[in-house]
Amino acid sequence: MGLVVQKFGGSSVADAKKVMNVAERVTDEYKKGNNVVVVVSAQGDTTDELIEKANEINPNHSKREMDMLLSTGEQISISLLAMAIEKLGFPVISLTGWQVGMKTDSNYSQARIRKIDTERICMELDKKNIVVVAGFQGINKYDDITTLGRGGSDTTAVALAAALHADICEIYTDVDGVYTTDPRIVKDAVKLSEISYDEMLELASLGANVLHNRSVEMAKKYNVNLEVKSSFQRVPGTVVKEEVDMEKMLVRGVARDNDVARIAVIGLKDEPGTAFKIFSLLSKSKINVDIILQSIGRENTKDISFTVTEGNLNKALEILEQNKDLIGYKDISSSTNLSKVSIVGAGMVNNPGVASKMFEALFESSINIHMISTSELKVSVLVDRDVAERAVKAIHDKFDFTN
Ligand code: ADP
Ligand code: ASP
Ligand code: MG
Repeated sequence: MGLVVQKFGGSSVADAKKVMNVAERVTDEYKKGNNVVVVVSAQGDTTDELIEKANEINPNHSKREMDMLLSTGEQISISLLAMAIEKLGFPVISLTGWQVGMKTDSNYSQARIRKIDTERICMELDKKNIVVVAGFQGINKYDDITTLGRGGSDTTAVALAAALHADICEIYTDVDGVYTTDPRIVKDAVKLSEISYDEMLELASLGANVLHNRSVEMAKKYNVNLEVKSSFQRVPGTVVKEEVDMEKMLVRGVARDNDVARIAVIGLKDEPGTAFKIFSLLSKSKINVDIILQSIGRENTKDISFTVTEGNLNKALEILEQNKDLIGYKDISSSTNLSKVSIVGAGMVNNPGVASKMFEALFESSINIHMISTSELKVSVLVDRDVAERAVKAIHDKFDFTN
């Protein structure tokens, strides 16, 4: 007898029929004699709709109240799924984040899990209950509800699998695995039978939202057996694990991220300490900076441009404007409507040909690159958002993913 953690995303529990389908999959696992912990997300577009409701009333709402609101979506799902499982005649109990002791820090809307008090879950499993847990939510030291960031239910599932030493953590979603790129954008994307934690973490961090990046980070840290599968079709999915038979596929996948904005700081003094001034001010306000580009100095001045998430754009501009004299620059400008398109693969280390092949694909499609950044595992380019899908397709076509 083992312990299985299953997670079902929003589209898998979108309506009554789908909730019944999930109940069947869960009870099938239970019938095999396993202990089952199920994590669910809010139904369909519930989270987006709640965000809209909040903005209708007060776009400047506090993050604490937003977390209070958003956590309700998952609470609806757990009770409905528990009722569906009751209907099938199995013992079940639904539990919220605080009831399962999901302790987080107080970074509302992006909270990190600190620890899980598994006592209650273990007690329910001992009673042979199927335990249905609300994803995406936790509780901080003030007993306030927190959320883990968009897509965070995956992280709830992996964290529970790690804490309970589960045999496997299965992430059920509306696609049947991890593909070489988003199969909704590129029809001939190829399903991967397995992918390494590192490559998956990179893909997830660069916009492949099939898994929340923190869930992959945690799976790697605690060596959780992770599999991405379809809620609707009973076919093998994608196994995410430490070592993958590389077969020297140079590039494992292509990802796109629309949550990006660019800021250019123009006419800075070309002297030591300028970059430090800018980026220390931003980091003090917890603003993450991604791609950074500095121009060659001319006539004692230089420009620095960098990207932030769209949500942080206004705050970053405000900080730079407030500190104009301290930093010392002529002008700042910003642009949105951009996307970051990236290729990822552990096999691209020391392979200069890979980046140039990507740039060739973009050139052949007449797509202009605004910024470039590279690491051992990836090459990213910043392009206009209206050509991003075309860029993904062109790059995906260029690399042969079929072998
Ligand atoms: P859930 O609600 O189940 O958490 P998500 O919408 O968060 O589902 O994630 C699944 C979606 O991820 C798919 O519908 C697909 O469009 C998208 N996706 C992006 N990149 C990939 C990829 N490389 N492989 C598979 N799916 C991907
Ligand atoms: N409901 C949350 C969201 O939409 C969490 C999740 O789906 O994982 O982001
Ligand atoms: Mg998701």
